[in-house]
Amino acid sequence: MTRSQIVKNFNELYPDAKCELNYSSPYQLLVAVILSAQCTDKRVNIVTSELFKEYDTPQKMITLSNSDLEQKIHSCGFYHNKAQNILSMSKELVNKFDGQVPDDFEVLCTLAGVGRKTANVMLSEAFKKPGFAVDTHVLRVSNRLGLAHSLDPNKVELELKKFFKKKDWSRLHFQMVLFGRYKCKAKNPSCSGCPFQSICSYYKTLAKVKS
Ligand code: SF4
Repeated sequence: MTRSQIVKNFNELYPDAKCELNYSSPYQLLVAVILSAQCTDKRVNIVTSELFKEYDTPQKMITLSNSDLEQKIHSCGFYHNKAQNILSMSKELVNKFDGQVPDDFEVLCTLAGVGRKTANVMLSEAFKKPGFAVDTHVLRVSNRLGLAHSLDPNKVELELKKFFKKKDWSRLHFQMVLFGRYKCKAKNPSCSGCPFQSICSYYKTLAKVKS
């Protein structure tokens, strides 16, 4: 299957794929992405809809104590680390970046709680620049489809960026997340009618076992 066929299949499966986190500024998106680690977007949206009523800027966020923020984000899980990262990141934005989220990949990666995955999401979603974030779904799907050959998200990100055209990166990220979340799940994926059967290592192994 060619690269353009793969892109076409994803476009047909998810023509409207987009970020499922609610936000109205780059800062809000950054907080939401940090909260979304090991948590559902739905849960994050519930938490941020309350949090951002009063604390929607880094200047306001740093008026919260660690324990107050922990209590507000508790239901997202890993609340201790997440609160620490959100407060440190917010202080860095206020002290070094005039309260603005930088739109540069390398600079984003220097912020507390921000790794390559988060920086890629910020670039593509908040700043409409090419980015290819690799989360657990993208990692699994790209390996099953033979688009990547590693369990290291950083290596997979580079493989995907090399294989796909820049203009497709951001959209493909969201399409692969949806595909992995709802169809190509880790356990018992819904393979019936999947357009990628011919290139899928998981499907080929399954077929061999059954024969
Ligand atoms: S055939 Fe199954 S495992 Fe393979 S990509 Fe499709 S849904 Fe995923």
